Amino acid sequence: MISSIVKAIQSVCPESSTDLPIPLHEPSFKGTNAWTYTKECLDSGWVSTAGIWVNRFEQELANYTSAKHVIAVTNGTVALRLALHLVGVRHHDEVIMPPLSFVATANAASHLGAIPHFVDIDPSNLGLCPTALREHLSHIAERRGFDTYNCLTGKRIAAVLPVHVFGHPANISAIKSVADEWGLPVVEDAAESLGSFCNSIHTGLLGEVGCISFNGNKIITTGGGGALLTNNPKLAAHARYLSTTAKQAHPWEFVHDEVAWNDRMPNLNAALGLSQLEDLTNRLFKKKLLFSKYKAAFADLNNIELLDQPPDSTSNFWLVTARFIDIDRSSAEIQRNKLLQLTHQAGLLLRPIWKPLNQLQMYTNCPSGDLRNSEDQGSRVFNLPSSPQILS
Ligand SMILES: *Cc1c(COP(=O)(O)O)cnc(C)c1O
Repeated sequence: MISSIVKAIQSVCPESSTDLPIPLHEPSFKGTNAWTYTKECLDSGWVSTAGIWVNRFEQELANYTSAKHVIAVTNGTVALRLALHLVGVRHHDEVIMPPLSFVATANAASHLGAIPHFVDIDPSNLGLCPTALREHLSHIAERRGFDTYNCLTGKRIAAVLPVHVFGHPANISAIKSVADEWGLPVVEDAAESLGSFCNSIHTGLLGEVGCISFNGNKIITTGGGGALLTNNPKLAAHARYLSTTAKQAHPWEFVHDEVAWNDRMPNLNAALGLSQLEDLTNRLFKKKLLFSKYKAAFADLNNIELLDQPPDSTSNFWLVTARFIDIDRSSAEIQRNKLLQLTHQAGLLLRPIWKPLNQLQMYTNCPSGDLRNSEDQGSRVFNLPSSPQILS
């Protein structure tokens, strides 16, 4: 069974040994304006936190996503931390999130002194499950004035932070209606989902604010970088202010009136980012094609399934995602380990999905609901090599 999966992957990935190993996802600058733009940026001397490239990059992101406001920052973790702060998350508050995510989702809350509070996922899209959210809140939460409290811990629940896992949109409109019932703002971790839409709305724009990452392994990269997307003008202005040390506008004086951060994306990174953004449509096309090639190659395999995009949504197919089905959880984990071993030996760098965050030592004591789906999927799911350049 496992060797036929390896063969199926090999039939999609390049076979020449000079191409090996094939990483999970790697950046590509071929055929883009990366050199021209970064050179122009260097020649101008404007390489830091001011300059035309940051503004252009933000403008082009706004055009592409239809976000009214885009604020470019130094990375996705910073974008999440800033977004959570902007919606009112403070020290000792709890932030509801799914445990199946990259560790940065939980770290961003921790950086504010807040506490991750884990709620289960929907196996169909691997995102936060609105039904689990509704049930869990009805068991543990109560409204006190405008605020919602966790009756078990006595702490305020300050936000809901769903994640669009591997680019597949979570069921944000249902999550948002539950959050609305409890007066909770929604911050979307759209770090992996640039180019993914729910009902034609770009991910990150259904909640109060969405956060994108441009790390080296994401669909496009700025070297390191992130952005906040929002349609809320006040929140956007505050984000811009807090990401640039909260300095009152003045030609020479240094008056700062809030404790703030130095989060702004440097111009040099934005120049690279603009050249990447120009290639996004091409990448999205290739990602989809790559998914269909894997799908065809996997068609005859039993016990294995590829995750397609959820209904009423468009996925960017950032990482092609597969899982073992119709076998119990511990057999799935054994099969997956065998597969990882064989593929790594063959130079195909597959990856299992993250260990659920509630199992990491700094997050084991966090409040949580019943996490059976997260833990089950955590043993079944893995990603296939997904760089768009695999096809060229
Ligand atoms: C990449 C990623 C982040 C963090 O982004 P960085 O730019 O690496 O800080 C956050 N959440 C998820 C789900 C991610 O994949």
